[in-house]
Amino acid sequence: MEKTDVHHIVVGSGISGMTAALLLALTGKKVLLLEKAPIPGGSMARFRISGIPFDTGFHFTGGFSNNGLLSDMLKVLGLYKSIEPVFLTGEHANRFMFEQTGEIFDFPAGEQQLKAQLQRYFPQEQKAVERYFELVEQVCRQTRTMDIRQINASMDLLNEDYLSLQTVLDQLTGNQELKTLLSGFSMCYGSAPAEISFANHARMCQGLYQSVARVKDGGDAFIRAFKKAFAEHGVELRCGISIERFLDIRDGQAGSALLTSGETVSFESAILTLHPQEAIKLIPAELMRPAFIHRIQSFEPSAGFFSVFGILEGTENEMDNSIISLFPCADTNRMLDPARSGDSALVIIRNTETVNGKTVQTVSAFEPCFPQETAAWAGSTAGQRPPEYTAYKARKTERIRERVNAFYAGQNAAFKVLNSASVLTFRDYLNSPDGSAYGIRQKTGQFNLIGKLPLRNVYLAGQSSLLPGIVGAMMSSFIVTRAVADKARFNNLICERLG
Ligand SMILES: Cc1cc2nc3c(=O)[nH]c(=O)nc-3n(C[C@H](O)[C@H](O)[C@H](O)COP(=O)(O)OP(=O)(O)OC[C@H]3O[C@@H](n4cnc5c(N)ncnc54)[C@H](O)[C@@H]3O)c2cc1C
Repeated sequence: MEKTDVHHIVVGSGISGMTAALLLALTGKKVLLLEKAPIPGGSMARFRISGIPFDTGFHFTGGFSNNGLLSDMLKVLGLYKSIEPVFLTGEHANRFMFEQTGEIFDFPAGEQQLKAQLQRYFPQEQKAVERYFELVEQVCRQTRTMDIRQINASMDLLNEDYLSLQTVLDQLTGNQELKTLLSGFSMCYGSAPAEISFANHARMCQGLYQSVARVKDGGDAFIRAFKKAFAEHGVELRCGISIERFLDIRDGQAGSALLTSGETVSFESAILTLHPQEAIKLIPAELMRPAFIHRIQSFEPSAGFFSVFGILEGTENEMDNSIISLFPCADTNRMLDPARSGDSALVIIRNTETVNGKTVQTVSAFEPCFPQETAAWAGSTAGQRPPEYTAYKARKTERIRERVNAFYAGQNAAFKVLNSASVLTFRDYLNSPDGSAYGIRQKTGQFNLIGKLPLRNVYLAGQSSLLPGIVGAMMSSFIVTRAVADKARFNNLICERLG
């Protein structure tokens, strides 16, 4: 049996794991990054259908505006110049449509512009709109961790952490359409307004109000940039390998880990960027109190997506990048109710790609969907699903195709479906326990699990630890890495790179 020594092991090579591994290496440590899947990147990795690229779990993001949180994190990692944002600035680049009435609301880029636009749409609600944006700004300003220079061991808790988004919206206005639009970005974290705190909603949305951007080459651009930096800074990335169990446990700390390859690796500390329910499987049961296990097991999944991928043919419109959210009703709670039946929101992401020198308009359409919907087939694996599942998938795909085509009918465009994926597809492809898009559901008053686990030199980061989306997942890794790394070197790195 081979034996290796490293300073730190990072488990999971999604955006959280890649961020943690590179940060540790930049503070001078020897890092081993382990990935269970055959390729790195987790949700960031693109896939191809007939040579056409599609995104798995990274389509667009906020945080790229001047001094935005994502820009700052990329600067610290030394990757800022390797990632090319493509800002969605067109007049109709980010639209919300109520399907029943056909009303369309455009969200321009920029908080001030959006506020003014919503006040034009809802002249009776000027004060409510003003106050909503004041509250979002106030929460983000008071959350020091949202400035990487002041990154702390945990997120500051504010009064708004104990108020649901729904409570705040109800206090602001009785206008149901406005409430639905103000909670419209909940599709970017997969929890209903009645469940998520106003504070976490604000932290997730502020960046998206400032600017919405795709990235040239999508998540693959991030993976390429990280891999290059790993080679430069000595991060060893191994795919198809995980931790079997921790060994040499003394005084609540592990001294080494047995890998699934049979090798033993000695380490100082390990960061698991996994779903908390998966992470605790690696902690010896006798080190965990029943109340702790119960807390972790009671986390519920966020929404996942039933997704349909294809191309838009015959469009008369100019080629463009846009996000259209179709809402079948003006009730975000209903659209994100796990027990819902019938249509939910449909987020249509239109993108321009060049394939073999030809321009192609790709469309990815996402309908929120909870694991309950596919529970009957949860025991099946890709390629071996029963006919009932195939019929379910065909039915859902056809309904989504109809809704996309209805939206583009005026432009003489047709949506040609190339493939589709259920939450089970995402579960199996991304090695997640349930196929949810954003890990655990964010709930008011819920304490997510972040940082030190009952094995004192094993830490948890990742999208379920703090906030989902690539910004939230990266932030969780900054917070946890700061706790693990040499403080002086970590702080120097931030100071040097952000000034
Ligand atoms: C359909 C969809 C659309 C989305 N759209 C967006 C979007 O447009 N913008 C945005 O910001 N966010 C989006 N998200 C959310 C975003 O992808 C996630 O919040 C983020 O990528 C999570 O990163 P992570 O590193 O925490 O987890 P992951 O990307 O899931 O990475 C975890 C990694 O750990 C690996 N792993 C699991 N178990 C083990 C193990 N035992 N040992 C070793 N490795 C293991 C997995 O294979 C995976 O590579 C979307 C998600 C989905 C599913």
